[in-house]
Amino acid sequence: MEITDLAQALRAEGKDIIALSAGELSCNTIASAKAAGIAAINNNQTRYTHNMGELELRQAISDKFAKDYSVTYSPSQILVTAGVKQALFNIMLTLCDADDEVIVFAPYWVSYPEQITATGATMKVVRTSLENGFQIDTAEFSSALSARTKAVILNTPSNPTGAVYAEETVREIARLCAERGIWLISDEIYEKIVYAPHVHYSLLQAPEANLERVIVVNGFSKTYAMTGWRVGYAVGPEAVIKAAAKLQSHSTSNACSIAQAAALGALLGDQDGSNDSFFAKLLPELLIKRDSASRIINSAEPLKTMKPAGAYYLMVDVSGLFGRKAGDRQLQSASDVCKWFIEDLGVATTPGEAFGAPEYVRLSFSTDLALIEEACQRLADGVTSL
Ligand code: PLP
Repeated sequence: MEITDLAQALRAEGKDIIALSAGELSCNTIASAKAAGIAAINNNQTRYTHNMGELELRQAISDKFAKDYSVTYSPSQILVTAGVKQALFNIMLTLCDADDEVIVFAPYWVSYPEQITATGATMKVVRTSLENGFQIDTAEFSSALSARTKAVILNTPSNPTGAVYAEETVREIARLCAERGIWLISDEIYEKIVYAPHVHYSLLQAPEANLERVIVVNGFSKTYAMTGWRVGYAVGPEAVIKAAAKLQSHSTSNACSIAQAAALGALLGDQDGSNDSFFAKLLPELLIKRDSASRIINSAEPLKTMKPAGAYYLMVDVSGLFGRKAGDRQLQSASDVCKWFIEDLGVATTPGEAFGAPEYVRLSFSTDLALIEEACQRLADGVTSL
């Protein structure tokens, strides 16, 4: 948020700033969702909905899980929320208490720490690094488990690293958690943003998973370009989903009725083929952007990055710049590097400290190709001129 504010202030001063900081697609909302949202307004779908979400939408979500993963969830096991953020918050508050520990893998998505600590629980971090493709060392994970471990948050494909966890990793994590009765919260919001030959392996596919202790969260923001509509969902055992729904009934009641109709439109568009042209372009275009951005960044010693298998972010190791000077600036941290990038080079990026990754900055490659290339070139030229 600080970088976004700074980018706005610098733009207001007339500076040319390219933003690679946004966590969203730059294209417009998928047509099937827009049409359904407009129809919902015209049909006066403007009242409170069922607290857990419109039945038709929950049925369509249930159909998606049956089709994609051959798992049956009844509508009473599905809670529609105002974005995946609310799904996670509701679930975390439902499951966790003050003495609990929740394990996350760093670099992690920024809101996990705040959502965990809001419940009074403690976050325990298992690190991953660029050298091993940000993959999880399951032995390290196993030794982080304790009698206090209540839950583990798995996010594949990952924001911010773009790592897609290997089948054997997901299965081993599922096995270790099932053995100990630990809850697994699987954030699969980027499930459709995976670059061949990589494939998404859902926790729901793992034969070792104990589905009585698994919650999957997913939503519409990242795949259908619907960040502003605020629709997500959690699926899992009925008792937990019902408790999370009670919590929601006293906070936001239900996700926006029009946005729910739009989300249903998006799911139905997957079924009837009307989304095909959107997805036929999305992944090939992102792939070109990924390859171009990572090539330019890797050409600029000492910056280092990898081609992510999923999502639309590059984690760039900037630690080779620490201790150097850029003009009068002393670069000692990822935040210092980000400030230099935006103030002097005109590129907004996100510092890694918020992701539990103080050696990195995150670049989003979901904007226009020409802008991405220009921004990465500005960074490369700036770094090589030091
Ligand atoms: N989970 C991850 C990993 C994300 O990257 C995000 C958004 O940045 C969310 C959840 C929240 O998404 P939503 O817009 O549906 O609240």
